[in-house]
Amino acid sequence: RQAAYAALRDVEPVTKDGQRITLMMNAGLRDDMPNLALTGADGIGLFRTEFQFLVSATLPARERQTRLYREVLETAGDKPVVFRTVDIGGDKVLPYLRHDDGEGEENPAMGWRAIRVALEREGLLKAQARALLEASAGRTLNVMFPMVSEPWEFDAAKAVFEGQVAFLKARKKQLPEAIRYGAMLEVPALAEQLDVLAPRLSFLSIGTNDLTQFLFAADRSNPKLAERYDWLSPSILRFIRRIVRSLEGHAVDLTVCGEMGGRQLEALALLGVGIRRLSITPAAIGPIKELVRKIDLGGIQAAMDGWLDAPPPNLRAALEDWTCRHGI
Ligand code: PEP
Ligand code: MG
Repeated sequence: RQAAYAALRDVEPVTKDGQRITLMMNAGLRDDMPNLALTGADGIGLFRTEFQFLVSATLPARERQTRLYREVLETAGDKPVVFRTVDIGGDKVLPYLRHDDGEGEENPAMGWRAIRVALEREGLLKAQARALLEASAGRTLNVMFPMVSEPWEFDAAKAVFEGQVAFLKARKKQLPEAIRYGAMLEVPALAEQLDVLAPRLSFLSIGTNDLTQFLFAADRSNPKLAERYDWLSPSILRFIRRIVRSLEGHAVDLTVCGEMGGRQLEALALLGVGIRRLSITPAAIGPIKELVRKIDLGGIQAAMDGWLDAPPPNLRAALEDWTCRHGI
């Protein structure tokens, strides 16, 4: 099968009814980069910058960050890379970056993490902004902020980047040709204010790993709950369909970058609720491309709308049955 997927490398992910789907891959380390050429993915839809911090014994100096980002962009060539600013804190505690009170947290996933840390430790975000801006000189920089809960957090993080742009401009340094700012939608509260934030966004990426744990109030790392809530739940899929609909008419690229998009039935369901861009683990690019080429988008969209309006007792079984009937 590996050989079959390799053969699909240069084939486009186009559905039977002619819709081009964007399939990007998730990455976080230099070592992930060769997968971009191997899989033929359309780009890096999520580069988890915290990995460099997690494998380092001390806070990575700005120059080291710049070097990594530059190498990533050079390897990617013409393909886009979306850099996510650090998602540390919470359960990814770094010895060199602790909460002032030095205490552990009862609920780290809902705690001091991601953009919450970045906006408080502004020096950290400033250094990362400079590193990303310098590494992207003459190219497009795509940057997104994790765990945005309210529009003002996006604005504040963007302002830190714009401050660094002004700094570099004043010193006559070469800037990126374009800067595209995006947010991750992982906290359900943001969906309620998406109409407010949308005009300021170039793109939005739904992080279904965190979004699911917050929608179901179910810790994503607790094995006792792993089987209890299905990604193919009408609650999740209706939620995502609502996000798709609320972005209609806005020039915002919408991607799903959680693990969900790398699984067959889940990817099918996401396409069925209107998602056209997925960023998934490299090993899933071939299998999902194969799936995309077998489906009739109009058909799955009509089926999903029916199922979400009047949910069957088991949506997973309904989807499985649909794939069998369509020879998938
Ligand atoms: C997510 O939450 O779905 C996501 C992509 O981010 P991470 O898995 O790194 O939290
Ligand atoms: Mg997340």
